[in-house]
Amino acid sequence: MKPTVTIVDTTLRDGEQTAGVVFANKEKLRIARLLDDLGVHQIEAGIPVMGGDEKEVVTEIVNSNLNASIMGWNRAVVSDVKQSLQCGVDAVAISISTSDIHIKHKLNSTREDVLSRMVKAAEFAKEHDVYVSVNAEDASRSDMDFLIEFAKAAKEVGADRLRFCDTVGILTPFTTYEKIKQLIDEVGIDIEMHMHNDFGLATANTLAGIKAGATHAGVTVLGLGERAGNAALEEVVMVLKFLEGIDLKCKTTLFREISEYVARASGRELPSWKAIVGTNMFAHESGIHADGAIKNPLNYEAFEPEEVGLTRQIVIGKHSGTRAIKTKFLEYGIKIDDQEAQELLENVRATSVDLKRSLFDKELAYIYDEYIAKKEA
Ligand code: MN
Repeated sequence: MKPTVTIVDTTLRDGEQTAGVVFANKEKLRIARLLDDLGVHQIEAGIPVMGGDEKEVVTEIVNSNLNASIMGWNRAVVSDVKQSLQCGVDAVAISISTSDIHIKHKLNSTREDVLSRMVKAAEFAKEHDVYVSVNAEDASRSDMDFLIEFAKAAKEVGADRLRFCDTVGILTPFTTYEKIKQLIDEVGIDIEMHMHNDFGLATANTLAGIKAGATHAGVTVLGLGERAGNAALEEVVMVLKFLEGIDLKCKTTLFREISEYVARASGRELPSWKAIVGTNMFAHESGIHADGAIKNPLNYEAFEPEEVGLTRQIVIGKHSGTRAIKTKFLEYGIKIDDQEAQELLENVRATSVDLKRSLFDKELAYIYDEYIAKKEA
């Protein structure tokens, strides 16, 4: 059955294009395998025309027996596409800019030339019987009439979809919706959302495109990608599942693991406040929240931590209340009453203010030992 939304992960291509990020080949293979286990439908594995290690690893990924479709990225140049085909990929992305600013100031070319280059490369790819995504780079800043003409020409030569790139991340969900709707109405081609996060709207814009009828979501793990990055895989999948009722049957329990792996492999930290997979997602400290979460997690959590491979944490610190203190000590098999909890809480707060952070379990144990010693003295 065709999924309602096809997830296209480009961690290995756009993600690696991030300034300062290089994956080792064995890391690329591991990421591809994790993405496949997770149930991602298509993996953009790299840019074969770069040759060397890059071409080698794309071939290795192709030969790894994954369920996902494996896509190679290309400029709209036949010789690029040839390199992709040599890797054995079943899908190619053929990319060229469609905005006047890029056509004039980057390609030093004309709209006619852009059309003819795209048509040539896409025709060549289709003759070799692979799935073709024609990428409109900087689509969001392109003249709509020209973009429609471009998409129609792509469809005519048999392209399977159009990748709509918000290359500099300047769309809002409202403008996205309008543009995607118009494209679909006038051209009738599958659309992939490829949104950048310069204004923090990549996930929202991806969702807006899907609402307007886009069939594919281009994403990366943790939103890794050029500048502020792309729409995050874990965000898009979880938004669809929990907020839109579109369950893609991805193995979401792997999200934390794959995020940790990609963070390490890319030399990036995984911020504790990262949506969906940050450790703080299920950490409760403030008295009211911790109390509520202990009574019933649904009070303060949108979904279960196990859903994404995380665990719930009651953090003890300045903002803790007595209920959290009692629950925490119960974890160690120590039952304390309200009076004791209140007295311990004073020490906890003072220590936490002193240290300007929440407390480790060991520090809590010291506070408790001290308290008991004083009491018995
Ligand atoms: Mn991109």
